[in-house]
Amino acid sequence: MLAATSHAPQANVHLSDAAIRRELLGLLSFNLDDGRIWLYGKRMMMLDGESFAMLRNELISHLGLKVARGIITRIGYASGQSDARLIRARWPTEYQRRAPIGSYLHRLEGVAKIVPVRVNSIPEKGHFDAEYEWHHTIEDDAHITSHGLGSEPACWMEAGYATGYVSTMCDQLILFREIECRSMGSSVCRVIGAPATTFDDVEEDLEYLGLQGGRAGKARRSPGAALSAWEVSRTDGLERPIVGRSAALTAARSLMARVAKTRATVLISGESGVGKELFARALHELSDRSAGPFVAVNCAAIPDTLIEAELFGVERGAFTGAQSSRAGRFERAAGGTLFLDEVASLSPVAQTKLLRVLQEGEVERLGATRVLKPDVRVVAAANLDLREAVRRGQFREDLFFRLNVFPIELPPLRERRDDIPELASHFVAKYNALHRREVTRITPRAMEVLLAHAYPGNIRELERIIERAIILADGEEVDVHQVQVPRSGEMQQDPLVVTDEGRLAPRAAAGAGASTLEEDIERLAIRVVETTQEGSAPPLFDRIGEMLLARVAAIAVTREQGNLSAAARLLGVKRHQVEYRNRLRLPPAP
Ligand code: ZN
Repeated sequence: MLAATSHAPQANVHLSDAAIRRELLGLLSFNLDDGRIWLYGKRMMMLDGESFAMLRNELISHLGLKVARGIITRIGYASGQSDARLIRARWPTEYQRRAPIGSYLHRLEGVAKIVPVRVNSIPEKGHFDAEYEWHHTIEDDAHITSHGLGSEPACWMEAGYATGYVSTMCDQLILFREIECRSMGSSVCRVIGAPATTFDDVEEDLEYLGLQGGRAGKARRSPGAALSAWEVSRTDGLERPIVGRSAALTAARSLMARVAKTRATVLISGESGVGKELFARALHELSDRSAGPFVAVNCAAIPDTLIEAELFGVERGAFTGAQSSRAGRFERAAGGTLFLDEVASLSPVAQTKLLRVLQEGEVERLGATRVLKPDVRVVAAANLDLREAVRRGQFREDLFFRLNVFPIELPPLRERRDDIPELASHFVAKYNALHRREVTRITPRAMEVLLAHAYPGNIRELERIIERAIILADGEEVDVHQVQVPRSGEMQQDPLVVTDEGRLAPRAAAGAGASTLEEDIERLAIRVVETTQEGSAPPLFDRIGEMLLARVAAIAVTREQGNLSAAARLLGVKRHQVEYRNRLRLPPAP
């Protein structure tokens, strides 16, 4: 881990500091039109140091030093975990060797300058021992200004962050503790990090981190908040998961989980492609009727002349061609849930019959004299604003009120952009499996394009874009060329990014995210070391030069449409050199 001095064969392989900086800067983008800042799909906010100091002081004065310290430590811990997950998502195979990225990331976020003093790590043995200096942490500035110097360290958020980040990277609890702090009069802060099991007095640290049943670890939520969190967690583990954690989606999930156990009729509204059927299925799965059938009908897909027979069933001889009796969808949904999608397109007669079912619970087949009473829960969905249809006289007002007992509005994707990265990786996994691809990551530039699009077709549109990108991708990465998004005009197409000099500039001008030849060679070199099998003959080391030259020759020949002389001129070498290399036709580098 970190700038490792481990004995593991690959542990010393990592990108240069310059390459890490460049890669990290490429992850950060600013969209002034939309008012959002993204760090590789994670929404960021600039909070000024004074406001942070005020928040910290408010916590201390209202809750006391100990409780405030616990809260701030846990915020740091969660933030470190989140950053570590982001790094692992961006570099899924190399994350362990890229660990110094964590300290750069924290610098990028403006928290402190982090200088490693000693870092010894053997991940496979669970060994970790490190010492760092933290310079000018923002939290010490806040603490010293308000409270002066004291006898306790004050970089609570930073210690929590380091613990969360390194623990997530190492898959074990690595505790960071400040042994010197500017708030105690030192010129810099000094921290040590080691597995929690190697400290003999971890009770207090764990209590602040909320990892043990200590007082500071207890969540102090209001009963309402706790209930809502519980409701949302119930929607995890569904057969078809509802992906996303944004506030807009969480509100809808919470409503859905709350109404699921009741018998209430639910009306789900939202634009096309927001996942109304997925929600209806989840509602059914969470209800007491989950053992019963879930029957879905798209009312717009069935012609007016057939809809009544389809929904309510038909008796033999009811009309020409009705040669046998047939149950309708209501009967088939008995004991379960009937999902009526695009309910606004029901014919007036069907609306009247539906109203009778909802009011009396009675279903009458076409041409029948007897009345059936199937036990059905109705969940309806509408794209259109149903109220508008009522106002125009196209939809019965009494039926609208019957359906609208418990409305749930699903947000369009552009209002829950925070969920795009998670949805994207969900679809990457889905279409990797379907199309036998092995895409493991989306480049920052491709992610920027995904985050900036307006998605008039919502999640369905995102899913199509990802499926297409997976098919077009020819390796482990989906890049900007494979993400084909129509220009929408709504969003800034060229977001601002941070240049190497730390200034903001339009992406095209900054050239961030592109890599130099040196960085590409460095990456290739890492790849060679990583993929070399011990004892393989002949060693890759002996072949890689030939392989690279053969590829260069082949690409030049292709680019010059098979003209060897032109390819030689392009490369500035003799014709026979190109011919020889091109003839080798060695397989491409692994
Ligand atoms: Zn400190």
